[in-house]
Amino acid sequence: MFKKCANLDCKRPFDYREGQLVRFSRDKGTVRTGSSVPAVEHYWICGNCFEHYVLRPEPESIRLAPRYHPFHARAGQSYAAALGAN
Ligand SMILES: [Zn+2]
Repeated sequence: MFKKCANLDCKRPFDYREGQLVRFSRDKGTVRTGSSVPAVEHYWICGNCFEHYVLRPEPESIRLAPRYHPFHARAGQSYAAALGAN
């Protein structure tokens, strides 16, 4: 269970008002809890880390991946215009 940011270099205490919360279901039979309920884990990254990273589910765990910035990758002018920026 999460209590801190999933970024091991950060470890900021959990705050539901910010960041990204991801539910990861480990239902491929690798983990059995003794009940019929699939093992589900929650991961969270804080708002600071969420500006730079996203949590990506992988087959075995959650990976901290660099965030994709569509407005940085493309020409950002249409976005700036939509915001009314100069
Ligand atoms: Zn963090």
